[in-house]
Amino acid sequence: MAITRVRGFQDLQGLPASVASHIELLCREIAQTYDFREIRLPLVERVELFQRSSGETSDIVEKQMYVFPEGEEGSALVALRPEGTPGVVRAFIETGLDKRDPEQRFFYSGPMFRRERPQKGRYRQFNQFGVEVFGRTDAACDAELLVMIDDLRKGLGLKLETQINSLGCHRCRPSFREALLHFGREHWGELCDDCHSRMERNPLRLLDCKVDVKLAESAPKSLDYLCEECRAHFATVRELAAAAGVELIVNPRLVRGLDYYTRTAFEILSGDVGSQSAVVAGGRYDGLVEALGGSPVPGIGFAVGVERLSLAVESSPGGGSEEVSFSSFDGRVDAVLIALGDAAIRHGMGVARSLRKAGLRVEFSAPDRRMKALLQRAAKIGARFAVIVGENELNRKSVQLRDLERSQQSEVPQEQLASAIRGVSAAT
Ligand code: ATP
Ligand code: MG
Repeated sequence: MAITRVRGFQDLQGLPASVASHIELLCREIAQTYDFREIRLPLVERVELFQRSSGETSDIVEKQMYVFPEGEEGSALVALRPEGTPGVVRAFIETGLDKRDPEQRFFYSGPMFRRERPQKGRYRQFNQFGVEVFGRTDAACDAELLVMIDDLRKGLGLKLETQINSLGCHRCRPSFREALLHFGREHWGELCDDCHSRMERNPLRLLDCKVDVKLAESAPKSLDYLCEECRAHFATVRELAAAAGVELIVNPRLVRGLDYYTRTAFEILSGDVGSQSAVVAGGRYDGLVEALGGSPVPGIGFAVGVERLSLAVESSPGGGSEEVSFSSFDGRVDAVLIALGDAAIRHGMGVARSLRKAGLRVEFSAPDRRMKALLQRAAKIGARFAVIVGENELNRKSVQLRDLERSQQSEVPQEQLASAIRGVSAAT
């Protein structure tokens, strides 16, 4: 009898294989223009890593992991990785970067394994392309990830919907959690069996109950419990995304169950791929590095589900049209963008995006830091230029272009910026 492939595992050839590769390649190119560096990690990690990061009560850890002993019988248990973030955080801590050099931007690409019920868009081996930013707390960082996903969407010619929520922080989350517990107790008789156990172990997950959607919709909303700082952060993320032309839909039921997931949570949905409609998911995890034994370094990231995005491309009418084109990467960082003041941040994100579109690699600096720290960071990552946008430049539709190698600075009209940078970079 012929040997067949294992249920939930796929052979890809022909168009589906090319579409998946095309998506991965585009993700890479876009990530590189946003100054992310590749990290390649093992497919096998210790089981505790996922218990502590994905959470013991998550579906992933409870039901979906492929677990086996590391060596001989009785040795420690390891698992095929079900997701990428825990391994990236582990490596970040294990190499000492959390203490030595915490501001890092990584991307990864490769297979993940989850033993869940196979169906269209849901497989036991699937590929994710993910990014993680460490060491940034500013809302502009969150907004830029949404802009980056929008670049990907445009590059693939897709229509996608971006849903967003804020989960609060260690200060405001407890009162929200209390409110949910109170709600759960009041509606105990109406809750499904899963929700009964969620009440004890992970009350936030009441909100994504798929059994009684109406009830979940009437539950308390995290947005009503945000502290002042979380409220301001969320407002700025939304405002910056809107200014960049990225439409967001607030979904109060979008949650991550665990305490170290903070503030921004988002999901990107496609209307073209059936019931498994989430093609990208991400959010902030300011407590995760510390929870895994590292220093208290904030983090945020997202993961693209490559197969689901492939389905969206294959079934979308306009799929494949490329509005954004990215050139290949040769290892340089062309510029850091430094924006001074709220209006300049909004505007500066657009300037950064247009430079990337012209094939340049640009890092948008943390707007909450001092100029000196930003220039130090620029030197450290080897940026040739700092592009500085302030109130005056904004009004004159120009920028200050500072050549960090020659310590020269001049004002350049915006429309000449990309060619000015490329001209100098190419000449040296
Ligand atoms: P879902 O609610 O669909 O199970 P999830 O919350 O488990 O998704 P994440 O762990 O956030 O998903 O993973 C990020 C992305 O990876 C998802 O949005 C999806 O596109 C993709 N993904 C997750 N699980 C699978 C799977 N079993 N098969 C294919 N793609 C998947
Ligand atoms: Mg899942």
